[in-house]
Amino acid sequence: MQAHQQGHDIQILHKDRYGYVVQCRHCKCIQVAFNNIAIDQDRNEFTSLVKVIESYYRDHHDLPDQCCNFRNIQVETPFEKMRLVFSLGELYAFHNMLQKVELMLQVDDISRAQ
Ligand SMILES: [Zn+2]
Repeated sequence: MQAHQQGHDIQILHKDRYGYVVQCRHCKCIQVAFNNIAIDQDRNEFTSLVKVIESYYRDHHDLPDQCCNFRNIQVETPFEKMRLVFSLGELYAFHNMLQKVELMLQVDDISRAQ
């Protein structure tokens, strides 16, 4: 997390062969790494990412002619001319990773609010 000062206390929320999600215990910033992509986010930005990937997943997961390993799914980014390219298999994995972590964070939000 280069944008952060020293002394952040990193907790691993998820880790698999594609990447990881970590969060600072103090400022709650989140870093998502997947293949060669790394994204630094706050809590709300993370939820936005979860929703964006969820919509791509919904649009693509049941298409019959979709190849699992060919990177033909282009995901828009805040940079107008830059897109992230996923295979269906990767989109599955990214979606599952984000859903799992979002659920963990929601449980954390609830327990903190009590
Ligand atoms: Zn921090």
